[in-house]
Amino acid sequence: MKRRILLVEDNEHNRYLITYLLEHRGHEVVHAADGPQGVRLAGQARPDLILLDIQLPGMDGYAVARALKGDPTTASIPVVAVTSYAMCGDQERIMAAGGCGYIEKPIDPETFASTVESFIPEPGGRDAP
Ligand code: MN
Repeated sequence: MKRRILLVEDNEHNRYLITYLLEHRGHEVVHAADGPQGVRLAGQARPDLILLDIQLPGMDGYAVARALKGDPTTASIPVVAVTSYAMCGDQERIMAAGGCGYIEKPIDPETFASTVESFIPEPGGRDAP
């Protein structure tokens, strides 16, 4: 089923690869290249899921996740961190900031799209008719 996914990622190569993998599965991908733009777009585009890089210009991924969770219009959208910033404790930090999961870079093109889909709630949940 087609879902709308917001990708907040400042690296053009990663944006290209992730967009390719998700569009290939029939999803719609909306992009933001920095934190503030990501927060703005989340409110406007109302995506089914947000993929969030941690190292971003303007506002890091933790701040973006906290802003999304602090706003009632975006609080229920699942946020999954996609990052190579895999220092000890990072996963705990993104979960503490409101994230619901974590995918490590470099991503595996074989499994990436299905891993992303596993974080999207089934229809009948949020915004169901
Ligand atoms: Mn980055």
